[in-house]
Amino acid sequence: MRFQQQVEKPPEVSLKVWSCGSEECNGWMRDNFKSNDNPDCPLCGHAMVEDERTLPVLENFSAIHMKKES
Ligand SMILES: [Zn+2]
Repeated sequence: MRFQQQVEKPPEVSLKVWSCGSEECNGWMRDNFKSNDNPDCPLCGHAMVEDERTLPVLENFSAIHMKKES
């Protein structure tokens, strides 16, 4: 049996995200998806805290169509 050629891993970037402050909830969102400076968790309503996550660059493109307010 031949091994399939390995697919190259997409590059990853470290992004600022918001994590749910509740220990029972794994909710989180990207910084550019937050509704205000102190977002609440969309899953449980708990206040969220700043966090950082490593995500594939390609993933990040899906967020680009969000309008940036200036
Ligand atoms: Zn939550």
